[in-house]
Amino acid sequence: MTPPAVPAALHPLVAAFLGDRDAVRAALHRFGSPLHLVFPQVFEANLAALRAVSDAGAARYRICYAHKVNNSAAFVRTAAGAGIAVDVSSVQELRSALAAGFPPDRIEVTGPKGGGLLRAALAAGVTVNADNLWELEQLAELATTNVAVLLRVSGFAGSATSRFGVDLSEVDRAFDLLVRHRERLRFLGVAFHLDTAATAERVLAVGDCLDLIERAYARDLAPTVLDVGGGLRQVFTADAANYDAYDAALRAGLLGHGEAMHWGANTFGYHVADGIAHGSPVFHKYANTEPAAAILAELLTAPLPGHGGRALGTVLADNLLEMWLEPGKALVDQAGITVAQVEFVKRAGNGARLVHLDLSRDTVTAADQEVLIDPIVLAERPESGAVGVYFAGHLCLERDLITQRVVRIAGLPAPGDPVVFANTAAYHTDLSAAQAGMHPLPAKVAVLHHDGGFVLCPDGDYRPEAR
Ligand SMILES: *Cc1c(COP(=O)(O)O)cnc(C)c1O
Repeated sequence: MTPPAVPAALHPLVAAFLGDRDAVRAALHRFGSPLHLVFPQVFEANLAALRAVSDAGAARYRICYAHKVNNSAAFVRTAAGAGIAVDVSSVQELRSALAAGFPPDRIEVTGPKGGGLLRAALAAGVTVNADNLWELEQLAELATTNVAVLLRVSGFAGSATSRFGVDLSEVDRAFDLLVRHRERLRFLGVAFHLDTAATAERVLAVGDCLDLIERAYARDLAPTVLDVGGGLRQVFTADAANYDAYDAALRAGLLGHGEAMHWGANTFGYHVADGIAHGSPVFHKYANTEPAAAILAELLTAPLPGHGGRALGTVLADNLLEMWLEPGKALVDQAGITVAQVEFVKRAGNGARLVHLDLSRDTVTAADQEVLIDPIVLAERPESGAVGVYFAGHLCLERDLITQRVVRIAGLPAPGDPVVFANTAAYHTDLSAAQAGMHPLPAKVAVLHHDGGFVLCPDGDYRPEAR
């Protein structure tokens, strides 16, 4: 069975690097396999695109890079060098941001915070995006000077239940605390972060937040910031039609109408009943074709209900509000790849061909996620013709199949051939990575296009100013 190919979208810089076989082999030779490669210049290009749209969007704005997408020092230093802000969510990320050169007033701590992180934030003098009333009370108690705070809110009509933020029905209690402790808590404004890409949902949330800001003014508070969080999407696939064709073939296989393209009992989140694959699959994010900058432009120009149909960006500007954005995955979109090597190819008892690699599934995706873009095989001399294979990991666990679906490749590779996982920088590499089987974590290396060639630098040694 040779299923439809699902080619990865590659930034031209990454495509050029992969086209230089000697550069790829040299990277593996020098730093070992598997290897995470990050491309700070792609980060800079993503940032430039978001800035261009924001500049055109009327309101004053601040971009905070959400550090949690990737541990990379090169990315956080690139963000610091570019003059944007950063959103950190642990003591370690806070230290990383300070070490990268962010001044405290360009660091924001988000997420749920225990006493340790709150004390570290206060000691560093950074902005705290408070998740709940307990945090506000703690800040009021622990602060010795005043601390800049944002209030994260949730519970918007039309949004999914969130475990983060103060529910809209409880905001008055938060305002009570902010008023009572105004000499310690300097209220900057309100924040939200929605786990969705839907502009309509974000527009409704902004509308609710504008009402809250008005209510805050009535309490003699003076907020100036509306933080709309992250959630701008990535583009993974180079060919949406092929993606759809693959999805259709996979479903046909699940229903028994075509050849099976799934391993074992996997259904990828589809619920198979009555001859239909119901629901949406775990890989739905790979279908997106809209770049982050276009999604942001859509948000800024969306008419805001109740404001005379004026664009959201204009309403914020007219109200002298600064819009804060917290993009994570959008800034590192296509800015990282993971390279492994083939160990051997074998046939399983069910006849499936398995291409064994020297990495585990958790190195390139979380266990419950299936990546619906094809790994790229850089075979020296591919044998046979196009063929369908599963990629298998090096752990002695049944579940360590890197692809639980058949992938079309041009021909069978040989031991040592590089295999590239595209667009792994956001959440794919560090979030679930483990050292099971006592395998060390892969090295992380920054790749720079310089003087017509590619220069490699260990991630921790990368300095944007030294370019
Ligand atoms: C994770 C997170 C982000 C980044 O989200 P992306 O979807 O990667 O843009 C921004 N803000 C907060 C509060 C977060 O928790």
